[in-house]
Amino acid sequence: MNEQELSQRLARVGAYVPQDARLADIGSDHAYLPVALMLQRQISFAVAGEVVQGPFESAEKQVRKSGLSDRIEVRLADGLEAIQTTDQINTVTIAGMGGTLIRAILESGKQQQRIDGTERLVLQPNVGEKTLREWLFQNEYTIIAEEILEENNKIYEILVAEKQDQVDYSQKELFFGPLLLQEKSKVFLAKWRRELKAREYVLQQLEKAEEKPVEKIEEIQTQIEWIKEVLA
Ligand code: SAM
Repeated sequence: MNEQELSQRLARVGAYVPQDARLADIGSDHAYLPVALMLQRQISFAVAGEVVQGPFESAEKQVRKSGLSDRIEVRLADGLEAIQTTDQINTVTIAGMGGTLIRAILESGKQQQRIDGTERLVLQPNVGEKTLREWLFQNEYTIIAEEILEENNKIYEILVAEKQDQVDYSQKELFFGPLLLQEKSKVFLAKWRRELKAREYVLQQLEKAEEKPVEKIEEIQTQIEWIKEVLA
Protein backbone atom coordinates (compact mmCIF):
# COMPACT_ATOMS: atom_id res chain seq x y z
CA MET A 1 0.00 0.00 0.00
CA ASN A 2 1.14 3.54 -0.62
CA GLU A 3 -0.27 7.04 -0.83
CA GLN A 4 -1.48 6.51 -4.39
CA GLU A 5 -2.80 3.01 -4.05
CA LEU A 6 -4.77 2.54 -0.87
CA SER A 7 -5.83 -0.80 0.57
CA GLN A 8 -9.37 -1.64 -0.45
CA ARG A 9 -10.41 -0.96 3.15
CA LEU A 10 -9.01 2.58 3.20
CA ALA A 11 -10.21 3.28 -0.34
CA ARG A 12 -13.75 2.43 0.74
CA VAL A 13 -13.42 4.66 3.83
CA GLY A 14 -12.28 7.43 1.46
CA ALA A 15 -15.28 6.84 -0.79
CA TYR A 16 -17.53 8.28 1.94
CA VAL A 17 -15.54 11.50 2.26
CA PRO A 18 -17.49 14.20 0.39
CA GLN A 19 -15.92 16.12 -2.51
CA ASP A 20 -13.94 19.18 -1.30
CA ALA A 21 -14.20 18.10 2.34
CA ARG A 22 -12.10 19.56 5.12
CA LEU A 23 -10.99 16.30 6.65
CA ALA A 24 -9.61 15.23 10.01
CA ASP A 25 -8.08 11.75 9.83
CA ILE A 26 -7.49 10.62 13.39
CA GLY A 27 -4.95 7.85 13.93
CA SER A 28 -3.39 8.68 10.61
CA ASP A 29 -0.20 6.60 10.79
CA HIS A 30 1.44 7.23 7.37
CA ALA A 31 -1.23 9.80 6.45
CA TYR A 32 -2.03 7.49 3.53
CA LEU A 33 -5.71 8.39 3.47
CA PRO A 34 -5.48 12.21 3.48
CA VAL A 35 -2.54 12.16 1.05
CA ALA A 36 -4.35 9.86 -1.40
CA LEU A 37 -7.57 11.90 -1.20
CA MET A 38 -5.64 15.15 -1.71
CA LEU A 39 -3.78 13.71 -4.72
CA GLN A 40 -7.16 12.67 -6.16
CA ARG A 41 -8.38 16.25 -5.53
CA GLN A 42 -11.21 14.94 -3.40
CA ILE A 43 -10.47 17.06 -0.32
CA SER A 44 -9.43 20.69 0.09
CA PHE A 45 -7.69 20.56 3.49
CA ALA A 46 -6.78 17.89 6.03
CA VAL A 47 -5.48 17.41 9.51
CA ALA A 48 -3.69 14.12 10.05
CA GLY A 49 -3.74 13.45 13.80
CA GLU A 50 -1.46 10.91 15.47
CA VAL A 51 -0.81 10.29 19.14
CA VAL A 52 2.34 8.16 18.80
CA GLN A 53 5.67 9.75 17.84
CA GLY A 54 6.81 7.10 15.28
CA PRO A 55 3.63 7.08 13.16
CA PHE A 56 3.43 10.88 13.54
CA GLU A 57 6.90 11.20 11.99
CA SER A 58 5.98 8.74 9.20
CA ALA A 59 2.91 10.84 8.46
CA GLU A 60 4.94 14.06 8.38
CA LYS A 61 7.49 12.46 6.06
CA GLN A 62 4.78 11.18 3.72
CA VAL A 63 3.05 14.56 3.50
CA ARG A 64 6.37 16.35 2.85
CA LYS A 65 7.40 13.79 0.23
CA SER A 66 4.09 14.28 -1.56
CA GLY A 67 4.54 18.06 -1.59
CA LEU A 68 1.31 18.60 0.34
CA SER A 69 2.57 20.30 3.51
CA ASP A 70 0.58 23.45 2.73
CA ARG A 71 -2.73 21.55 2.59
CA ILE A 72 -2.27 18.70 5.08
CA GLU A 73 -1.27 19.51 8.63
CA VAL A 74 0.17 16.64 10.62
CA ARG A 75 -0.38 17.09 14.34
CA LEU A 76 0.84 15.09 17.32
CA ALA A 77 -2.27 14.89 19.49
CA ASP A 78 -4.59 12.57 21.34
CA GLY A 79 -7.74 11.92 19.32
CA LEU A 80 -9.79 14.94 18.34
CA GLU A 81 -7.49 17.27 20.27
CA ALA A 82 -5.76 17.45 16.88
CA ILE A 83 -8.45 19.81 15.61
CA GLN A 84 -9.64 23.31 16.42
CA THR A 85 -12.79 25.20 15.43
CA THR A 86 -10.76 27.37 13.06
CA ASP A 87 -9.88 24.27 10.97
CA GLN A 88 -13.55 24.15 9.89
CA ILE A 89 -13.44 20.38 9.67
CA ASN A 90 -16.59 18.89 8.16
CA THR A 91 -15.57 15.22 7.92
CA VAL A 92 -13.81 13.01 10.45
CA THR A 93 -12.36 9.63 9.53
CA ILE A 94 -11.22 7.20 12.23
CA ALA A 95 -10.12 3.85 10.84
CA GLY A 96 -8.25 0.72 11.84
CA MET A 97 -8.87 0.82 15.59
CA GLY A 98 -11.20 -0.97 17.96
CA GLY A 99 -14.74 0.35 18.33
CA THR A 100 -14.20 1.03 22.03
CA LEU A 101 -11.23 3.28 21.29
CA ILE A 102 -13.08 5.08 18.47
CA ARG A 103 -16.01 5.60 20.84
CA ALA A 104 -13.70 7.02 23.54
CA ILE A 105 -12.11 9.40 21.00
CA LEU A 106 -15.55 10.63 19.89
CA GLU A 107 -16.83 11.00 23.44
CA SER A 108 -13.83 12.99 24.58
CA GLY A 109 -13.94 15.09 21.37
CA LYS A 110 -17.58 15.87 22.10
CA GLN A 111 -16.84 16.77 25.75
CA GLN A 112 -14.04 19.07 24.64
CA GLN A 113 -16.23 20.58 21.91
CA ARG A 114 -13.84 19.55 19.15
CA ILE A 115 -16.85 18.26 17.22
CA ASP A 116 -20.31 19.82 17.35
CA GLY A 117 -22.43 17.28 15.49
CA THR A 118 -22.29 19.00 12.10
CA GLU A 119 -19.45 16.79 10.87
CA ARG A 120 -19.86 13.60 8.87
CA LEU A 121 -18.23 10.70 10.74
CA VAL A 122 -16.68 7.90 8.68
CA LEU A 123 -15.65 5.14 11.07
CA GLN A 124 -14.00 1.82 10.43
CA PRO A 125 -13.76 -0.19 13.64
CA ASN A 126 -11.80 -3.46 13.45
CA VAL A 127 -13.94 -4.92 16.24
CA GLY A 128 -16.55 -3.57 18.67
CA GLU A 129 -18.98 -2.18 16.10
CA LYS A 130 -21.92 -2.54 18.49
CA THR A 131 -20.52 -0.25 21.18
CA LEU A 132 -19.75 2.34 18.52
CA ARG A 133 -23.30 2.19 17.10
CA GLU A 134 -24.63 2.55 20.64
CA TRP A 135 -22.61 5.76 21.08
CA LEU A 136 -23.88 7.10 17.74
CA PHE A 137 -27.45 6.29 18.72
CA GLN A 138 -27.12 7.82 22.21
CA ASN A 139 -25.70 10.94 20.61
CA GLU A 140 -28.54 11.21 18.09
CA TYR A 141 -26.59 10.36 14.97
CA THR A 142 -28.17 8.54 12.04
CA ILE A 143 -26.23 5.82 10.28
CA ILE A 144 -26.53 6.99 6.68
CA ALA A 145 -24.38 4.26 5.12
CA GLU A 146 -22.78 1.01 6.16
CA GLU A 147 -20.49 -1.28 4.27
CA ILE A 148 -18.90 -4.62 4.97
CA LEU A 149 -15.94 -5.92 3.01
CA GLU A 150 -13.36 -8.68 3.10
CA GLU A 151 -9.67 -8.09 2.46
CA ASN A 152 -6.80 -10.49 3.16
CA ASN A 153 -9.22 -12.84 4.89
CA LYS A 154 -10.33 -10.15 7.35
CA ILE A 155 -13.78 -8.67 7.46
CA TYR A 156 -14.17 -4.93 8.01
CA GLU A 157 -17.19 -2.73 8.59
CA ILE A 158 -17.49 0.95 7.71
CA LEU A 159 -20.08 3.16 9.42
CA VAL A 160 -21.00 6.57 8.10
CA ALA A 161 -22.99 8.80 10.42
CA GLU A 162 -24.49 12.27 10.42
CA LYS A 163 -26.92 14.11 12.63
CA GLN A 164 -30.20 14.00 10.78
CA ASP A 165 -33.74 13.10 11.81
CA GLN A 166 -33.30 10.69 14.66
CA VAL A 167 -33.86 7.02 13.99
CA ASP A 168 -34.86 4.72 16.82
CA TYR A 169 -32.60 1.67 16.39
CA SER A 170 -33.51 -1.67 17.96
CA GLN A 171 -30.97 -3.70 19.95
CA LYS A 172 -30.76 -6.09 17.01
CA GLU A 173 -30.00 -3.26 14.59
CA LEU A 174 -27.28 -1.93 16.87
CA PHE A 175 -25.81 -5.43 17.01
CA PHE A 176 -25.81 -6.25 13.28
CA GLY A 177 -25.88 -2.77 11.79
CA PRO A 178 -29.27 -1.45 10.60
CA LEU A 179 -28.32 -1.17 6.93
CA LEU A 180 -26.11 -4.25 6.82
CA LEU A 181 -29.01 -6.20 8.29
CA GLN A 182 -31.31 -5.06 5.49
CA GLU A 183 -28.76 -5.83 2.80
CA LYS A 184 -27.52 -9.21 4.16
CA SER A 185 -24.62 -9.37 1.71
CA LYS A 186 -22.47 -12.46 1.18
CA VAL A 187 -19.66 -11.04 3.33
CA PHE A 188 -22.14 -10.15 6.09
CA LEU A 189 -23.47 -13.71 6.13
CA ALA A 190 -19.91 -15.09 6.17
CA LYS A 191 -19.05 -12.84 9.14
CA TRP A 192 -22.03 -13.99 11.14
CA ARG A 193 -21.40 -17.68 10.36
CA ARG A 194 -17.93 -17.18 11.91
CA GLU A 195 -19.38 -15.25 14.84
CA LEU A 196 -21.98 -17.93 15.48
CA LYS A 197 -19.29 -20.61 15.78
CA ALA A 198 -17.23 -18.42 18.11
CA ARG A 199 -20.25 -17.72 20.35
CA GLU A 200 -21.31 -21.36 20.48
CA TYR A 201 -17.82 -22.23 21.66
CA VAL A 202 -17.82 -19.47 24.32
CA LEU A 203 -21.24 -20.59 25.52
CA GLN A 204 -20.03 -24.20 25.92
CA GLN A 205 -17.07 -22.98 28.00
CA LEU A 206 -19.24 -20.71 30.17
CA GLU A 207 -21.69 -23.52 30.84
CA LYS A 208 -18.84 -25.68 32.12
CA ALA A 209 -17.86 -23.10 34.75
CA GLU A 210 -18.52 -24.01 38.37
CA GLU A 211 -20.12 -20.66 39.09
CA LYS A 212 -22.07 -19.94 35.94
CA PRO A 213 -22.07 -16.28 34.83
CA VAL A 214 -25.83 -16.28 34.30
CA GLU A 215 -26.16 -12.82 32.75
CA LYS A 216 -23.33 -13.39 30.29
CA ILE A 217 -24.79 -16.78 29.32
CA GLU A 218 -28.19 -15.21 28.67
CA GLU A 219 -26.66 -12.43 26.60
CA ILE A 220 -24.79 -14.91 24.41
CA GLN A 221 -27.85 -17.14 24.08
CA THR A 222 -29.88 -14.18 22.82
CA GLN A 223 -27.16 -13.26 20.35
CA ILE A 224 -26.99 -16.86 19.12
CA GLU A 225 -30.76 -16.83 18.54
CA TRP A 226 -30.54 -13.55 16.62
CA ILE A 227 -27.67 -14.80 14.47
CA LYS A 228 -29.50 -18.05 13.68
CA GLU A 229 -32.59 -16.07 12.65
CA VAL A 230 -30.52 -13.87 10.37
CA LEU A 231 -28.74 -16.82 8.79
CA ALA A 232 -31.93 -18.88 8.35
N1 SAM B 1 -5.99 4.90 10.20
C1 SAM B 1 -4.93 4.07 9.62
C2 SAM B 1 -5.53 2.91 8.90
O1 SAM B 1 -6.74 2.67 9.03
O2 SAM B 1 -4.80 2.21 8.19
C3 SAM B 1 -3.97 3.60 10.70
C4 SAM B 1 -4.52 2.54 11.59
S1 SAM B 1 -3.39 2.12 12.86
C5 SAM B 1 -3.74 0.47 13.15
C6 SAM B 1 -4.05 2.98 14.24
C7 SAM B 1 -3.33 4.28 14.47
O3 SAM B 1 -4.08 5.06 15.41
C8 SAM B 1 -1.96 4.08 15.07
O4 SAM B 1 -1.02 4.78 14.31
C9 SAM B 1 -2.09 4.66 16.49
O5 SAM B 1 -0.91 5.25 16.95
C10 SAM B 1 -3.19 5.69 16.29
N2 SAM B 1 -3.93 6.04 17.50
C11 SAM B 1 -4.37 5.22 18.48
N3 SAM B 1 -5.01 5.91 19.43
C12 SAM B 1 -5.01 7.20 19.04
C13 SAM B 1 -5.51 8.42 19.60
N4 SAM B 1 -6.13 8.44 20.76
N5 SAM B 1 -5.30 9.56 18.90
C14 SAM B 1 -4.64 9.58 17.73
N6 SAM B 1 -4.14 8.46 17.17
C15 SAM B 1 -4.32 7.29 17.80
